Amino acid sequence: MTSEKTLFSKIIDREIPSTIVYEDEKCIVINDINPKARVHLLVIPKKPIATLFELTPEDKDVMGHMMLLLPQLAQAQNLEGFKTQINTGEAGGQEVFHIHIHLLGN
Ligand code: 5GP
Repeated sequence: MTSEKTLFSKIIDREIPSTIVYEDEKCIVINDINPKARVHLLVIPKKPIATLFELTPEDKDVMGHMMLLLPQLAQAQNLEGFKTQINTGEAGGQEVFHIHIHLLGN
């Protein structure tokens, strides 16, 4: 087990700059640095869970919290609809090993 901070933990701790769209005690929402749509947000739990494979029952609350946040974020960006994506594992195209939900909309 490594104690190295994830890229997103460094963003959460303001060690790396980013555009923070929303933050509360459980999660942070930032603009993706390389947007694939007009709106491309990343919803990130403050707990640095590596992938969906590492989720445990104690993570139900934060995962549900983030799901409930998605439509609110979309409405705040004036989106009538949106896509979500969670890349999981190298084979699933995941590059940053700290769970995040992509929210994309045009
Ligand atoms: P993944 O491929 O792991 O699902 O997605 C990682 C996402 O993080 C990519 O869409 C990438 O553009 C974004 N990303 C990588 N580094 C940074 C960064 O330093 N700041 C921000 N805001 N986004 C980043």
